[in-house]
Amino acid sequence: YTPGRSRLGPPPRANETGNGHRVRVVARVRPFLAEEIQVSGNPGHDCTSISKGTEEDSLTISTETASRCEEYKVDACYGEATDNAEVFANEVQPILQCLFEGRNATVFAYGATGSGKTHTMQGTETDPGLMYRAVKSIFKSATDHGCTVAISYYEVYMDRCYDLLETKNEVPVLEDHSGNIQFRGLAKIEIKSVEEFQALLAEGCARRRMGSTVLNDVSSRSHGVLAVTVTSRDATSHVLREAKLNLIDLAGNEDNRKTGSDGLRLAESSQINQSLFALSNVINALNANDARVPYRDSKLTRILRDSLGGTSRSVMVACLNPGSYSEAAKTLSLAARSRQVVNHTEGVRQGDEFSKEKSDMAAKLMAWKESKT
Ligand code: ADP
Ligand code: MG
Repeated sequence: YTPGRSRLGPPPRANETGNGHRVRVVARVRPFLAEEIQVSGNPGHDCTSISKGTEEDSLTISTETASRCEEYKVDACYGEATDNAEVFANEVQPILQCLFEGRNATVFAYGATGSGKTHTMQGTETDPGLMYRAVKSIFKSATDHGCTVAISYYEVYMDRCYDLLETKNEVPVLEDHSGNIQFRGLAKIEIKSVEEFQALLAEGCARRRMGSTVLNDVSSRSHGVLAVTVTSRDATSHVLREAKLNLIDLAGNEDNRKTGSDGLRLAESSQINQSLFALSNVINALNANDARVPYRDSKLTRILRDSLGGTSRSVMVACLNPGSYSEAAKTLSLAARSRQVVNHTEGVRQGDEFSKEKSDMAAKLMAWKESKT
């Protein structure tokens, strides 16, 4: 009998035992935006309903008529009332300790353009995102433990890497024989205070946006990676050791058919799809405990190899736009890979429940909209 291999029940979740390399996948549904609420009070552009599934931590998406309804199992669900503080406290704070034990970690925001990835990672002035919150917490612990914290911030666009700190130069990415990645000349800045970090992050984000206007919103078609390195001294051997946290705002997983057909757009979207598909294959291989994990299939997964799997802790936040069934289905099917099609036909019971849920939601949205005007 091998623990975790029993046929009597599911294997223990590796992240919960603390010694595994499973990637936690959580879903976050953003609220409807003011401009998405139509005159009739009916939210959404393709009439989706996202609600809690039949099990705790599962989630159901359906079309308005409930003629399609699918259920996905994830590790946790966060709804429209959730703020970045809550996502941070539940999902990111618990994995930060590993950085002080010399282990790496990765946090991704995954989803279509407009689903809330940047809101989750960068946040707003009133509700800072996971990047700021993570660095603030790490910096505090590091100061208490006599460790140093340094950051790099870069963008991966069309399989090339661009520095977002100081300049926006291309950074050659080299790989040695054992697959270790080196970024030649990538800026790595030691953080002396949280305020200093905040200023650096803001400049980096601005650089990302600046590139965007020139090249027509590149930011949604590139992966933005904030790499936080913690250097500590081992208590017994006194040897210096490094651990890295990657905080990643992934490119939008748009439908190929929507992105236009000129050469650049096609090349971009095939590049994005390839890298996101490779990432989801890696996550699935890790979560299925496969012997072979296909890190080599894209630049993104090669870069993340040392921070995904092994002893690393990782969490993916699958961001969902509440108004788009097809995008939500695409995001969840790649992120969760645990789809159960609940029904294809308009079941009376489901239909009733969903329409009630929808009208509740529409009423809430109207009230919210009125409170804003
Ligand atoms: P993405 O980076 O995935 O393209 P954004 O983070 O830019 O998407 O979000 C799209 C829009 O939705 C933005 O206007 C953003 O402010 C808003 N938004 C996203 N998530 C939330 C949220 N949890 N609460 C409130 N507004 C949100
Ligand atoms: Mg974005």
